Amino acid sequence: METEPQEIVIKGINASPGICIGKAYLVDSEGVEVVPKYRIQDKELSNEIKRFKAAVKKARDELRKIVEQSPEELQNAHILETHIALLKDKMLYTRTIETVKQEKVNAEWALKKVVSNLIEVFQTMTDPYLKERSADVIQVADSIMHNLVGTKKVNIAAIDKRVILVAHDLTPAETSQINLEWVMGFITDRGGKASHTGIIARSLEIPAVVGLRTATALIRSDDLIIIDGNTGTVIIRPTEDSLFQYEARKTDYEQYKAVITRESQAPAETEDGVRLAVMGNIELPEEVFAVINYGGDGIGLYRTEFQYFNRDGFPNEDELFDKYKDVVDVMHPKPVTIRTLDINGDKALNNQFSAEETNPALGLRAIRYCLRRPQVFKYQLRAILRAAASGNIRILFPLISTYFEICEAVRMLDNAAESLEKDGLPYNRDIEIGAMIEVPSAVIMADVIAEKVDFFSIGTNDLIQYALAIDRGNEQVAHLFQPLDPAIIRMLKHTADVAREKEIKIFMCGEMAGTPHHIPLLLGIGMDELSMNPQSIPDIKRVIRSLNVGDARSFVREALKQTTARSMFELIKDTYGNILSEQLYSG
Ligand code: PEP
Ligand code: MG
Repeated sequence: METEPQEIVIKGINASPGICIGKAYLVDSEGVEVVPKYRIQDKELSNEIKRFKAAVKKARDELRKIVEQSPEELQNAHILETHIALLKDKMLYTRTIETVKQEKVNAEWALKKVVSNLIEVFQTMTDPYLKERSADVIQVADSIMHNLVGTKKVNIAAIDKRVILVAHDLTPAETSQINLEWVMGFITDRGGKASHTGIIARSLEIPAVVGLRTATALIRSDDLIIIDGNTGTVIIRPTEDSLFQYEARKTDYEQYKAVITRESQAPAETEDGVRLAVMGNIELPEEVFAVINYGGDGIGLYRTEFQYFNRDGFPNEDELFDKYKDVVDVMHPKPVTIRTLDINGDKALNNQFSAEETNPALGLRAIRYCLRRPQVFKYQLRAILRAAASGNIRILFPLISTYFEICEAVRMLDNAAESLEKDGLPYNRDIEIGAMIEVPSAVIMADVIAEKVDFFSIGTNDLIQYALAIDRGNEQVAHLFQPLDPAIIRMLKHTADVAREKEIKIFMCGEMAGTPHHIPLLLGIGMDELSMNPQSIPDIKRVIRSLNVGDARSFVREALKQTTARSMFELIKDTYGNILSEQLYSG
């Protein structure tokens, strides 16, 4: 009889709140790189060997099928026949079984060990033919390994059973293909909280934990797992007790969400009567409904690049216009802030138009890309101006790092308007223009950039990445990604002060705005508007209603004396703990 493997609890980064329980579905094809190692109890040894034999049989069946379907020339070359024979070779097959028995380790690990030894032996051979054969051994071992680990490269969009995705990493483009009917949540080995993958999970409103490092090594397809996206916990093969406990937590969380969502249609007004706009960030047009349902006062950030993913060419102007118009019409008369294309960085296009870059975060991203591809940019600018003829649109330029860039962007917007005039198409050039403040040089040059725009929108995801030199998607340094670092708070204060002096508005659309315990600081610093993933709107509105701007301003003076992110956090806790403790799930 097969014995139940032990429950394992692993901790990662809470990328998207909520709890889900379901079967794992591994979507990576990492081959021998993600080989798990664990001990096998004596009584489980025969099961483990059976598992190995089954994986070999499956690999043989797969190879046979390929042989039958392959052209005659390939069949004659006997390459695949050699592989089939190798599957049962003593050096590979028998030795792996012996290693499982002797070392009491899992089959994947035993196989990996046997293969490494074999490769070494082949490499010492002088006969070039035999030396070459190590490649065959690796390929054969790989096919067994894939069957053992249960990994397969899958088309995420095609998944049609209720599962939890388990991946080494997911790109934003892959994540945006998730079909919500089937995928309950996902977890990854890689990634940080401000990674675009995490951001999309929050938009999709499915629980997600990223940066787990060992998830793909510990989990096999069809394992039962629990994701707690509130705390960043993943429980593999849970016990009855854990299942019971998490079912209860899931219900509590859903009830809590329902309560705050009900209150969320009311405005966010502080105790001393200051109203703050609380807006939603969206990636795809259909997410506007979530913003409306959660009581958003408009769209503070529409990440338009997602319309350029998962397709062969660029969308044309009419396609873009239709999408923008849909969003504007649904939100009317509330404002929609359309951010121009921010591709590359961690959002490379998966088509032939994107070039390989060694250092993509510092590369041809966002406005830099658009200024290099004026035609692509022009289509988008024309589509935005056309949609503005029928609704309340603001335009926002990303990754501005020099005055020249904002001047060029505005010049191209004027050119686009002129071309529409010539074409006799309806448009509206009289829209508010904003610059994203997300590169330290833009903070320093804020007074100059302010001359060209009507508002700033602070993108803390990138500002933290570039100011503290922390890759926003790298789990190794995720603990250093600190919105409360005094350097960041000083930059926010400086930018807000400049905005006030220059009489332009100051918004924030980075993830920092969607975290309850940051709100007293942001209010005191003087933000006019906060934009966040739609799910966070109810929580943030609730916090704003319990605060007082006068107090928050004095609080900022204290905060600016802090020297570390930790002391900043402690100060928030000491001063506002009573308000924030109500936020059971503040993340
Ligand atoms: C940011 O950088 O904070 C931001 C809002 O933009 P994105 O996350 O799309 O880079
Ligand atoms: Mg950004």
